[in-house]
Amino acid sequence: MDLGLSGRWALVCAASKGLGRGCAEALVKEGAHVVITARGAEALEATAADLRRLNPAVHVVAVAGDIATVEGRTAALAACPQVDILINNAGGPPPGDFRDWDRAAWLAAIDANMLTPIELIKATVDAMAARGYGRVVNITSGAVKAPIDVLGLSNGARSGLTGFVAGLARQSSLAGRNVTLNNLLPGAFDTERLHKTLAAGGAKTGQSSEEFAAKRRAAIPAQRFGTAAEFGAICAMLCSAQAGYLTGQNILLDGGAYPGVY
Ligand code: NAP
Repeated sequence: MDLGLSGRWALVCAASKGLGRGCAEALVKEGAHVVITARGAEALEATAADLRRLNPAVHVVAVAGDIATVEGRTAALAACPQVDILINNAGGPPPGDFRDWDRAAWLAAIDANMLTPIELIKATVDAMAARGYGRVVNITSGAVKAPIDVLGLSNGARSGLTGFVAGLARQSSLAGRNVTLNNLLPGAFDTERLHKTLAAGGAKTGQSSEEFAAKRRAAIPAQRFGTAAEFGAICAMLCSAQAGYLTGQNILLDGGAYPGVY
């Protein structure tokens, strides 16, 4: 199926690795031009080179910077001739106990995982509406649906974003102009971040990282972790011309791990 993405411009935040990179790869394969960001310039440039090899017909622009800062967002937006597709992503907040988190810890989490996507949405959706096409996909977490106790900063900040997006997506000034906003909720995906979490979990419970990972895999009905490529493919589908009637949704990608019906 032709997803109708050829020639669209996508801003994919936090995309040198992992899920963001998976989204950028899928969009590039479909013929979209991309601006990708990450803080580390070296890995970002290497990813940009890989993306250009993947589809030499598209423009790939790499903008190094922290997307959770005004400067990082301004540079990313300036590099994108027009934002037809916005993929909001950033690193997740650290785990811990809420008794140890001060106001600064909360503000950092809220900045990165709630206010940054909101600022980028604010900067882009009205122009999308004026052009009659726009797609916003926020990478959040399965923890929005099934909160994880040690990820309280993530549970809190991402739930704030989720509530905001639920209201905004239903504004007819956007939905009525073919601008959709949806959230993708990853369960366990095989990325650098997951590997760090598994290593920490193993160390905490006196197991090797691989033993700990095997138990995590066994607890997922799919019996495996997801891949960034399959995450990116679903993201591209949400951005497709065909997905204009799909908005305000929270789509869980977790291999069946969440046990509930709704
Ligand atoms: P990852 O493999 O660690 O990749 C993170 C990417 O984001 C890297 O390219 C990183 O590059 C970039 N990045 C991080 N903070 C940034 C910032 N402030 N500004 C710009 N770029 C930034 O992580 P991932 O597994 O893809 O996770 C992506 C998001 O999904 C995170 O918020 C994570 O919490 C969430 N999530 C992941 C899983 C999972 O199983 N993987 C599950 C649930 C939720 P630099 O470090 O160079 O900036």
